[in-house]
Amino acid sequence: MSESSLRIETKLVHAGEPLPRILGAVEMPIFQSATFEYGGEGSYHDVRYLRTNNTPSQLALQAKIAALENAPAALVTASGMAAISTTLLTVLSAGDRLLAQSCLYGGTHDLMNRDFATLGLAVDFIDADRRESWQAQLRPTTRAIYVEAMTNPLLQVADLEAVVEFARAHGLISIIDNTFASPVNFRPIEAGFDLSIHSATKYLNGHADIVAGVVSGGAELIERIRHKANHLGGSLDPHAAFLLSRGLKTLALRVRYQNESTLRIARFLEGHRAVECVHYAGLESHPRHARARSLFAGFGGVLSFELKGPASRADEFAARVRLPIVAPSLGGVHTLLTRPATTSHAGLAPEERARLGIGDGLLRLSVGIESTEDLLEDLERALR
Ligand SMILES: *Cc1c(COP(=O)(O)O)cnc(C)c1O
Repeated sequence: MSESSLRIETKLVHAGEPLPRILGAVEMPIFQSATFEYGGEGSYHDVRYLRTNNTPSQLALQAKIAALENAPAALVTASGMAAISTTLLTVLSAGDRLLAQSCLYGGTHDLMNRDFATLGLAVDFIDADRRESWQAQLRPTTRAIYVEAMTNPLLQVADLEAVVEFARAHGLISIIDNTFASPVNFRPIEAGFDLSIHSATKYLNGHADIVAGVVSGGAELIERIRHKANHLGGSLDPHAAFLLSRGLKTLALRVRYQNESTLRIARFLEGHRAVECVHYAGLESHPRHARARSLFAGFGGVLSFELKGPASRADEFAARVRLPIVAPSLGGVHTLLTRPATTSHAGLAPEERARLGIGDGLLRLSVGIESTEDLLEDLERALR
């Protein structure tokens, strides 16, 4: 049975695990060793050392991630931002430009907006839903196009198929941050993207106890990114690699449950008289519901909504819920609630937030794996 023919549930458990098993161990041991005996390696990047991303804990995890994404190769990094920054600094050189979706994860947006200029890089932000507008933004020095599977916090779904076609037509490297979908709901490499990135801090690990990142893609490109990572130094520690590998084993179970639970909660909120609007690609009312349905196997565990009345209602609501923890981040076993205007998007001017459609009273819910009934009862009580 070839590994690539296996379904994702099976790959999550078995892919990348060493055979023969090490001393018969059913679980991959943690290789907590900074350096390894010299074995005749000819290049700096092949010397077995934790920073060069080629020690047993890292290699096993990288093989598992590549299998999940159906990609030839993968690299694990010390955080999602390490994966993003290392990837972008590999595919872009001084003088190059990047086309990037306008509504990006805050850390990524700040990297492009604040740090790029000092490195001689430039970014042109695009409306990733309007393919006809991209050509005008293209310059001879544009090298890559960068999007997210679903945007935060409004859960917009860009024209991802058009991104792949546009990149191919213009010789750009297509890069997607697939964090919100996870490989259970969407596998970008199968859809034709060159590189797929995750903050493994979120769904992949799923337990809110480490930060980590991954990037998957073609072997040559991933090797170039690994060499850059070896220089920049954002490598993943073996103990975190073990936790990520352990978390991954239940990814399919968690994400499918979260897909279902979140859809039920989205429908409940949409039908509640205290709720003004709900953003979730699984709802028929979502403007890109049909596209999301054709691209994704499920709509994920994050939704956002606004209550009727003044924005202060959002804080009152957050103070009343018992199960959701008011905390940033997403994709874990705990249900988390945030108010983007005062957390992830607090850095933007109010007019800028309004332009992006992020109301001051908007609440974002990352649904965990608690009982859906308990969550619904808690939300109902808080709304009342
Ligand atoms: C959290 C997140 C990141 C950053 O990941 P870290 O692991 O916190 O560095 C990047 N992209 C998205 C979509 C995220 O949610």
